[in-house]
Amino acid sequence: MTEPRTRQGARKEGPGQTWEVLLTEILTNRPRLAGAACAGSPELFDPAEPDEHPDSVGYRHLAAQKTCLYACPVLDECRAWAETEKGRGRVLAGLIPRSTRLTPREDVA
Ligand code: SF4
Repeated sequence: MTEPRTRQGARKEGPGQTWEVLLTEILTNRPRLAGAACAGSPELFDPAEPDEHPDSVGYRHLAAQKTCLYACPVLDECRAWAETEKGRGRVLAGLIPRSTRLTPREDVA
């Protein structure tokens, strides 16, 4: 079986997107964030997996946020860039997507 192709012959990577579109998106207008603390653990920042428990995503994203806020030397530059970006469900510049924020549990005492 062959890979799905667009009219231009490029392989599809996602709904309506080609790898060229994704690569262009990745390489365009991205700042060089030398020393970015997320470089060593990008999985913390990723969007929720379809079968991932919400609490697991919440704690993962909390750890990512702490990496940004307490260990990243380029937080200010990243935040300036992030203001022009859509987070797409991932942690960016210490900002956790609203959909994955942990909510306090009701007091059981
Ligand atoms: S602020 Fe966070 S997302 Fe931005 S470069 Fe630093 S670690 Fe990565």
